[in-house]
Amino acid sequence: MKIICIGRNYVDHIDELGNEIPKDPVVFLKPDTAILPKKMPFFIPEYSDNLQYEVELIVKINRVGKYIDKKFAHKYYDEIGLGIDFTARDLQQKLKEKGLPWEKAKAFDGSAVVGKFFHKSKFNDISNIEFSLEKNGEVVQKGNSSLMINSIDELISHVSEFFTLKIGDLIFTGTPSGVSKVVENDELRGVVQGEEAFKVRIK
Ligand code: MG
Repeated sequence: MKIICIGRNYVDHIDELGNEIPKDPVVFLKPDTAILPKKMPFFIPEYSDNLQYEVELIVKINRVGKYIDKKFAHKYYDEIGLGIDFTARDLQQKLKEKGLPWEKAKAFDGSAVVGKFFHKSKFNDISNIEFSLEKNGEVVQKGNSSLMINSIDELISHVSEFFTLKIGDLIFTGTPSGVSKVVENDELRGVVQGEEAFKVRIK
């Protein structure tokens, strides 16, 4: 399976990092080795002094597809979850400045927290899903799928032009504002519509 990640999909997060609103979705990949094993703490890699969380809704693909039309995209997923796209921001900044790929800063081991998935029937409206991230019991990120620049169905349509989607593939749909650094002993907790999706301890 592969993990397809979307960057710059919420205006407030684009503003906080001083980026431009992209014409097309920003897309990058993480390998399956990026998934943090369940119940494992996240170890800050030694090559970063500014390791940041990004909480994101995740879509799990349930059938094979290529060139998926936006109006049929809803048939390609049953479950939506929540996770973290961990980012070595200092390294990413250096790579961005040189125009180099982001993978070293984004796709390293443990960089993808994949929490619990919820059947989409749990949500009244896919384009109005509330989610948040708490750090040490305090809400640090708050998002809603209604604020996405590109909706889940638009993202599926767009990425399937480039990559054949396969069963089990995950799409991280971008983060809202509030990203910040983690330090040892922090505890992160992700919540979707009031339900806990994951808890991660930082080491
Ligand atoms: Mg992200």
